[in-house]
Amino acid sequence: RAGRGRYRLFETGMDDLLQRRRETEIDLRRALALKQFELNFQPFLDLSDDRCIGFEALLRWKHPVRGYIPPLEFISLAEENGLIVKIGEWVLRTACQEAATWPGEIIVAVNVSPIQFKADTLLDTVMSALKRSGLSAHRLEIEITEGALLDDTDNVLRTLAALRDIGVKISMDDFGTGYSSLSYLQKFPFNKIKIDRSFIANANADSEAILRAVAGLGASLGMAITAEGVETAEQLARIRDERCTHVQGYLTGRPMAAHLVADFLTRPDQ
Ligand code: C2E
Ligand code: CA
Ligand code: CA
Repeated sequence: RAGRGRYRLFETGMDDLLQRRRETEIDLRRALALKQFELNFQPFLDLSDDRCIGFEALLRWKHPVRGYIPPLEFISLAEENGLIVKIGEWVLRTACQEAATWPGEIIVAVNVSPIQFKADTLLDTVMSALKRSGLSAHRLEIEITEGALLDDTDNVLRTLAALRDIGVKISMDDFGTGYSSLSYLQKFPFNKIKIDRSFIANANADSEAILRAVAGLGASLGMAITAEGVETAEQLARIRDERCTHVQGYLTGRPMAAHLVADFLTRPDQ
């Protein structure tokens, strides 16, 4: 209304946001066909010998005008409109293809959205990605968040069990950030727990106690424990003390383009 400038300003801001979202969605629908997606790979190391045992595939969208758009800015949108299913298929196929060119037993870890489980095609997608690439199943790790186990749990558990049966490893990602992390550990025998970066970054007594408890829990459940987001030597020393089994973070390796993986693996410290 005239004279209510503050209201008008607020609404205009909302419009802009909505408009930008609509534009992003239109662009996102075309991004696959236009080959605008890329994968980066971030190494994770086994703390028993500090050697790289695998890489997590991280999605990048190279927008023709806006440049690289980080996943946090488009994945939730892709989940809302269902595009994540097709995008996720591309990620799985591409990640397996890349990993098939890596030496030895190096693993690739792939993030899978809860929506991909609901689509009911995940098992087929994984099996065809493995078959087409020739990658053996034990070199593929699937990372899921607690969100995947929120509803339709029986279906999700069946799919996870089927994946495990063909040899794929299953990790619980972002552990500790959800609503009832502990109860999920009881529902499925995960191979690995990835402790969220927030527990590593905050060096206070509480996060340290949580780190210690989760690492102990993982050990007794026979699960590996990855500390995520390790950026400093101090943090690395701390997670060693707390008996984490794996590390992933900027300190031990940033996400890198696919063509740099081979070089990383032949570094003298590897
Ligand atoms: P995530 O699965 O927890 O992946 C780790 C994120 O932490 C990555 O951000 C990585 O670049 C970042 N990171 C790694 N080490 C450090 C560190 O030492 N310090 C800091 N500050 N950050 C670190 P990125 O690549 O922006 O991905 C964000 C999130 O987007 C991922 O979190 C994941 O939830 C999602 N995502 C990425 N790729 C995919 C995908 O292909 N499919 C799905 N569904 N989600 C994806
Ligand atoms: Ca992840
Ligand atoms: Ca994570």
